[in-house]
Amino acid sequence: MRFQTARPASWQTCIACGNEVVETDPHPRCVACGGLLEIHHRPPAMSPAELIQRFTERRGGQPGATPSGVWRFRDIVLPSADSVVSHPEGNTPLLHRVALDRWAGIDHLLLKHEGHNPTGSFKDRGMTVGVTQARRIGATAVACASTGNTSASLAAYAAQAGLPALVLVPAGGVATGKLAQSLAYGAKTLLVRGDFDDCLRLVEEASDRLGVYLLNSINPFRIEGQKTIILELLQQLAWEPPDWIVLPAGNLGNTAAFGKALREAREWGLIRTLPRLAAVQAAGAAPFARSFAEGFTERHRVKAETVATAIKIGNPASYDRAVQAIIETEGVVLATSDAELLEAKAAIDASGVGCEPASAVTLAGLRQLVRTGQVKQADRVVAVLTGHILKDPGLLLRYHQEIEPPPPGANRPIEIDADVREIERVLKSTA
Ligand SMILES: *Cc1c(COP(=O)(O)O)cnc(C)c1O
Repeated sequence: MRFQTARPASWQTCIACGNEVVETDPHPRCVACGGLLEIHHRPPAMSPAELIQRFTERRGGQPGATPSGVWRFRDIVLPSADSVVSHPEGNTPLLHRVALDRWAGIDHLLLKHEGHNPTGSFKDRGMTVGVTQARRIGATAVACASTGNTSASLAAYAAQAGLPALVLVPAGGVATGKLAQSLAYGAKTLLVRGDFDDCLRLVEEASDRLGVYLLNSINPFRIEGQKTIILELLQQLAWEPPDWIVLPAGNLGNTAAFGKALREAREWGLIRTLPRLAAVQAAGAAPFARSFAEGFTERHRVKAETVATAIKIGNPASYDRAVQAIIETEGVVLATSDAELLEAKAAIDASGVGCEPASAVTLAGLRQLVRTGQVKQADRVVAVLTGHILKDPGLLLRYHQEIEPPPPGANRPIEIDADVREIERVLKSTA
């Protein structure tokens, strides 16, 4: 007779060498080879229908509902978590605007607006899990490198958990709204004279030396939380997957999370078919698109340059996980110029939806895919808008007030004397 020791609910494995460690191991990478870690869960002990039923009951309205759009899925996110640090987060809308269907050239485009999260970006979904894990393992401080949104989110969740937070951001390279949030939520904020890639290298060194828990997206618990963007949108679509999911790609944590969520959802019977992922980069920060074009034979690093600061990343940390996500979903990776992403952003903003610059690469990229025939007009597409319009007011004001000659979407304000005749004059001249 053979005895089997029961598997714990979850554990971590290195995706490079297969080394296995317990769920509560605090190292940000594999200690054996430096590879990226991944969380594995024991398959849920119930049928897909029962699991879906459970998620439905928690969705809201009824007593006992879970107010978080992350922890509603806790059975496949972090089943052993007991006391969670939740704002709450998630529950973001799926929006439809006819003007944007037309702009992209398809029949029906849905926008999953992650800018509706508590700190204004999808980073909150990963951070609620990451900070919950930090508390579980008894971390005394938390840290991250960031292009802005991760630091804003970490600062807020660390404040809620009562943990000191250290954030490293590129000096002069962070949008105003994001920097303002980090300061206001009380994180110790270091402006590094360098770019994001320098910040990430530095914070990894520091966390190792100072014993601070690292909450960048290489942290596999953040990936678990970010999976719920996919789970929630599948739930909103009654578990009928779309044909395509389009997302911006910077450090590739989200691309990795989407791939993992879809793989597990199929493995555990929640869906039968996989949507294809379209990961879109900014042309000046597109090392992943270049690797894709070469069949992923080589990993590249570039000196990143783009107005979309959230994806201004030259050496994406989650590269290996993201390659797997693109291959498994028969996905594509492409890049759009800054001019194209700004045009797409102006269209999203003018539709009343609004988003930050990095989010707009989705619409610009989708239009490219429609023009090249890869996405068909009748395909069902969900584009993920990753951040809120107010994250980057500096860029907005430059676009609308300052750029000469004014771009096509520019909406110039008009200064007048405090006299009603002035209003009449303006309305007549622009009629
Ligand atoms: C972080 C972020 C991204 C990029 O996501 P990755 O996981 O780094 O690829 C895109 N848009 C916004 C608004 C972000 O905050």
